[in-house]
Amino acid sequence: MNLILLGAPGAGKGTQAERISEKFGIPAISTGEILRSAIKEGTELGKRAKSYMDSGALVPDEVVIAIIKEYLSSEKCKNGYILDGFPRSIPQAQALDAMGVKLDAVLDIEVPDEKIVDRMSGRRVCPTCGSTHHIKHNPPKKAGICDKCGSELQIRKDDAPETVKNRLDTYHSITEPLKEYYSGKGILIVVEGQEKVEDTSALVNAALSRFER
Ligand code: AMP
Repeated sequence: MNLILLGAPGAGKGTQAERISEKFGIPAISTGEILRSAIKEGTELGKRAKSYMDSGALVPDEVVIAIIKEYLSSEKCKNGYILDGFPRSIPQAQALDAMGVKLDAVLDIEVPDEKIVDRMSGRRVCPTCGSTHHIKHNPPKKAGICDKCGSELQIRKDDAPETVKNRLDTYHSITEPLKEYYSGKGILIVVEGQEKVEDTSALVNAALSRFER
């Protein structure tokens, strides 16, 4: 299955991507995660991406398109993949088409802006394995500690309130038109993001059941 996860920042794409990845045994590729690691490692890519990310803007299309091109041609993607956070603009979607990618579905997780703001303020991420938790909606078993690998959880820099507003504005103006792009291709599936992760997962599982083997 080749799947795209669409939705506002904080809609729960990362959490659902992890779960779908486990269930279907295919990798989840998060461009945001790749860029954050590049920043941490101080690579050229990281240096280029940092100022855009810190302000809540999108990294230039050609940068993320090059990343995705490399990943999709790797061995681990040969049985399918989940793209979490790519494409985020029409030119990025057109670049995927130009690569000859055949998508099975585009899953859009819909969450109203007010809820997004509430969620982002409570979001905690693991700097080691990239897992996401939320202090209210998906709390770790031990406060402040990643369930998966035991590292200390952190607040992402771009989850700061002023950056969240910019990210939402960017989402509505540049990313949201992708809904129409993919519904025009007949592959858009819309799921309402729920308060509880488990409830969203149940809707996602039902929506993807026809792709199970
Ligand atoms: P995310 O973790 O998906 O919320 O991404 C965090 C940040 O990384 C975004 O706010 C953008 O600055 C950047 N980013 C991630 N994916 C993309 C993309 N496909 N196109 C442009 N910028 C991206």
